[in-house]
Order: sequence, then structure tokens, then C-alpha cells
Amino acid sequence: MSSQQGCPNHADHGSVMSDRNDDIHWAPRLKPALIRRLYTMDARGIVDEDLIDEVGYGLLARCESIRRVTERCCPQCGERLEGVLEQERNRTISCPSCGWQSTWDLYLRSYKNKRLHGGRATVDFLRFLDEFPKCRTPQQKMLVIDRLIHAVHEWMRKTLTLPAAENIIQAKRSEVIELLDDLAYGDRRGTERAGIRAMYFQKLDESREPTLREARAIKQLHTGLSQMMSEFYSEKLETSVDVDLAFLDRTTYDEVIEFLSNPTCTYTFAVEPLSGPAMFDYSQPVVEAFIAQAKKTTGSPNVEARIVMDKIIARNLADLETIWKPVEEIQISDAELKTNTHDIQLAKPDDPVFLVSHAMTCSRGSGLISICYPVLTLESILPRLIT
Ligand SMILES: [Zn+2]
Repeated sequence: MSSQQGCPNHADHGSVMSDRNDDIHWAPRLKPALIRRLYTMDARGIVDEDLIDEVGYGLLARCESIRRVTERCCPQCGERLEGVLEQERNRTISCPSCGWQSTWDLYLRSYKNKRLHGGRATVDFLRFLDEFPKCRTPQQKMLVIDRLIHAVHEWMRKTLTLPAAENIIQAKRSEVIELLDDLAYGDRRGTERAGIRAMYFQKLDESREPTLREARAIKQLHTGLSQMMSEFYSEKLETSVDVDLAFLDRTTYDEVIEFLSNPTCTYTFAVEPLSGPAMFDYSQPVVEAFIAQAKKTTGSPNVEARIVMDKIIARNLADLETIWKPVEEIQISDAELKTNTHDIQLAKPDDPVFLVSHAMTCSRGSGLISICYPVLTLESILPRLIT
């Protein structure tokens, strides 16, 4: 479940570049103890201006970093970068204003796992950037801090809600939820701050975040797929092939896409009667193993990757239908090969997804085979998963 477990091709990725990204600095998240102290004083009616400023300016710096990452801006001066829209992974990016230069790859890696993408709550971070510097009194400052702390990310017709405080407080999601739940608050009736907290709790209560039990059930279903793949691949590659479930990760769609290798061997497909698409990705070593085998069996040096992989995916998708049967009779259609990550459009960048990765190991090569389901796709059947 941890995001450190990461996405396909992390391993390929880590060793490639030794270049520094030490000239890219982002403001850190704030310590939970500091937030706790601020709210304790505030609830007792004690106005500690230094403390309010310490928190306020810390949040201001953090929100500015979030803005820069989300809008692809220069880490040094905040201007829009040039070169970010090109496709080459190692492309040079540069700042037209201050002359700062780096590569897209280093930029991406500079904020990985730091919760710096503003996602669905970006508007709240921008609002704080605009409002906090205009505040004249400690009370005004507390009001805008309070609004930011209790902002939320909202997905799926506002039914899936997570605290935006994750992006600004240095703690795990569960700890952030606990911290906010526990903050001293006092009675704010009749003040501008009335309703801020109540609204936050109401949104979280209505949230339908997939539970640990649902994630476990998905993992269990896919253990069956591992076995099917193992048998089919052994037959295809004429050698003993192990396929094991490597991990299940709850992450966001852009995390998955940004760390796929380019070119990709990714099939997108529709799943009826579910509410959206999903995808199946073969990492490069897996594709190469099947191509080498096809060359050997046909005796031809020219085999087309697409023709080889179309046969593999057809069987894998049939097996995927089989493993889902106990939960829902799904029908997969419109499988389409994408060889460039830019052509894969499955979800919005910060949409939550399940990433199920299987590791293939054999004498012909080892690599990951991953299935990505947007949570939205599974929305209608999540409750049934655990019964
Ligand atoms: Zn700059």
C-alpha cells in the first residue's frame, strides 16, 4: 500500500542518471506539532502572533512550491518553464526569466513522493497564496489558515474526499486525519470561522474511499491471474515461467503514467458494465522475451512486436474476465495498443487508481506486468468486493 513500493519500471529508472537535482529546492511540509500548538493556543483564545506567522509563512512557502510543481514552473523564480510540453523524457527544460536549466526527468524526480502536486485542491492552495499576504490582523490570518487546513480533494461527484492537509503537514494520511480530528477548536459560532470545520467533517463522512478490505480482495483476485499467466507464459516461452503478484498500490494516475517506460507496450480497454476503462502494461524485458521467442519459432528475424503482443494480451484479458467472475460478469472490449504514454488517456492526472503489478521471472528475462484500474472504473462494484 505504501507509495514507496512505486510503479512499474522504478528499478530501470533509478540507475539511469547520476546528475544532480540538488539545485531544485521545494518548501517542506509543516510539522504536526506546530499545527497542534497553534490550534491549542487559538482554542484558548490566546493570540500568539509569532506562532501564527511561523505557521502562516511556512504554509505560504509550501503553497508556492505546490503552485510551481502543479503549473510546471521554475523552482528558482516561479515563472512558467519552457520545454515541458515536448515528449522526450530527457528533454531540456529552461526558465525564460532567470535562465535556470535542467531536464524534465530531474524535475519530475525532484518532487516524487513529496506530495507537491496540488491535484483537486489546487484552487485552495492558490487561494491561500492570494489571501494570506493581504491579511492585516492575526484573526484574519487564522481564518485563511483554518480554511486551508480544512480544505479537501474531491473526486467522483464529490463522493471520494481526502484531506488536502496531506500536502501541507508532514504526516501519513491516517495521521493527518487523526490530527485534524483531534485539533482543539473551541466554539466559533457567530464568527467568520463558523462552519469551516463542520463542512470538512461532513465531506469526509460522505467520502467513499476504498477500504483496506477492498484492496485486499482485489489482491486476492489477481493472485489467480498470476497462476494463469504463469501457465500460459510457460507454454508460450517453452520454459518454466514464474509469475507472482508483486504488489498492489493505491496511487494516482499521473504517478503511474510518469514512470512507465517510453515506448510503452500498454493496452487500454473498456470494461462493461463497469463505469470506465482500465489498462494492462508489459514492461520492456517481458516484451523482449516474447519477441525473442517468436523469432526463434518462426525462424524469421523480422517479427512485429504488435502481432506478437496482440496474441498475449488476448489471452490475458480473457483470463482477467475469468478472475472477476465471482464479483461481476465483466466483458472486455476495444483493446488498443499504445506505444507512447501521451496516447494513454484513462483518467485525470490526480485520479486515484489501483495498480496491480505481477513480476515475471524466467531464464528468458524478468519484468513487471501491471494492471491499472481507475478507482472510478471499479466504483460500482467496490461494495460487492468484500461480500
Ligand atoms: Zn526562473
